[in-house]
Parts: sequence; structure tokens; C-alpha cells
Amino acid sequence: MTFLKKRPLFLLLFLVACSTVGITGRRQLLLMSESEEIQLGLSTYKQAIGSYPEIRTGPQIAMLKRVLSRIAPVTGKKYPWEVRLLKADNVVNAWCLPGGKIAFYTGILKIARTEDEVAAVMGHEIAHAFAHHGNERMSQNMGLKAVAEILSLALSGSGRKGQETRNNVMLAFGVASKVGVLLPFSRRQESEADEIGLHFMVKAGYDPEAAVRLWERMAKGRAPSSGLDRFLSTHPQPLDRAKALQRLIPKVRAKYRR
Ligand SMILES: [Zn+2]
Repeated sequence: MTFLKKRPLFLLLFLVACSTVGITGRRQLLLMSESEEIQLGLSTYKQAIGSYPEIRTGPQIAMLKRVLSRIAPVTGKKYPWEVRLLKADNVVNAWCLPGGKIAFYTGILKIARTEDEVAAVMGHEIAHAFAHHGNERMSQNMGLKAVAEILSLALSGSGRKGQETRNNVMLAFGVASKVGVLLPFSRRQESEADEIGLHFMVKAGYDPEAAVRLWERMAKGRAPSSGLDRFLSTHPQPLDRAKALQRLIPKVRAKYRR
């Protein structure tokens, strides 16, 4: 097929696929619909949680659930929200998959100590899902064919054959990583998630200064180097983030002041 013949399809795709991020208004390219993205997030959740033991009771998971119950409604998203706490003291990380499935590792709770600070982390992670950052990364990195292939497999039946094929594709593409667990977000997406997360915090009644404090504390900590431990390494410099957040706070506060 010649390029010219293909072209209208691509034009059409870009027309269909170009959307706008809520709150910031940035234009972005998304090759998956939101419902496809959510489906993929859900089908990846178990795998993404990995082999860490889950903590189901106690004050920490209670706090995480409380924070989620306050932030989820202000996003306006009707996701099947869920948060889990995984025991991994050396993993300074948290994430939220498309569709609102969230995980926190105990390691990040050593740095995010107060409820407001936890809300800063959760607001940021939810903002990635809210702004379709995983979808955007897939759309940018993998191209239409790969997206379509993964989708058809993720959405295909739950039969044994389907499961096998899916596992193979998961291995080949590392799907969990592609929906935003491991695939590093761009700096622009990180800054955007910081900004949107701040809006969520304020709307949910949390103290946005906690986000600044959190990143100042991150800056003092030693950057971890092991595999999953990417919260620091793939995110912009903690002190720069703290400063950028500080600058945004008056504007965000003013927006929701009653
Ligand atoms: Zn992030």
C-alpha cells in the first residue's frame, strides 16, 4: 500500500485520537479509548501487584482507603477504585493504573508520613491515570499496530488459549510496564501529574503544602537504585518539583476558594 493511500487513515486517526487533558487543557494523542484503557488496566492489575505480600489490615491501609475515598470523588471519574498496600520497605513507589487500581509500597510510607503527604502521593498517581498518561506513552512509543495487538489480546476471552497468548504478549511487550507501572513517564507528564494532583488535594480538603514538604524530604533522601525503585530516578529532581509546586499553590487555592 502506498503512503498516499494510507494517509487518510492516519489523518482520521489523529482527528479521532487527539484529545485534551482535563484541568491543564494540554492536547495529547491517545490511540486507545478510555474504556479500552480501563480494561487493560484491570487485566494488568494482578500481574502488576507482583509477588509482594499484601497488608490488608492496620492503620496504614486504613489511611490509604480514607485518602482514596476523599480524592476519588473530586476526580469526577467513575472508576472501580481500589487501593492496596504491599509490603516492600525498600520500594519507594506507588502507582495508579488506568481504571483507578492503586498500589502503595510500604517503602513510600516511610517518606510520606502524614495523611496530607500520602494524599500528595496518591493525588499525583491518580493524576497520571486521570490524564491518560499510560495511554499517551503507549500511543507515542509503540504505535498503532502494537496498541491494537495488545488490546485485542487483553480484551479477548478468558479461555486457556487466550490466556496463553496474552501471557506471551505480556512477556514480549512487558504490558504491565507499558500501562504506566514501569514505563517512565515523561518529565512533562510528571509535572502535569504534580499540578493535577495539587488540584485534587485542594478539592479534597488536604493541605497542598504537604506536597512541597514531601518533595523536600525526598531531596534529602538517598536516591535508591534498585529495579522497581524508580519513584525518584524517573521523576524530575525533587527540589525542582518542590519549587514548582510551591509556585502553583496560590493559583490552585484561589481556584477552589469559596
Ligand atoms: Zn509520577
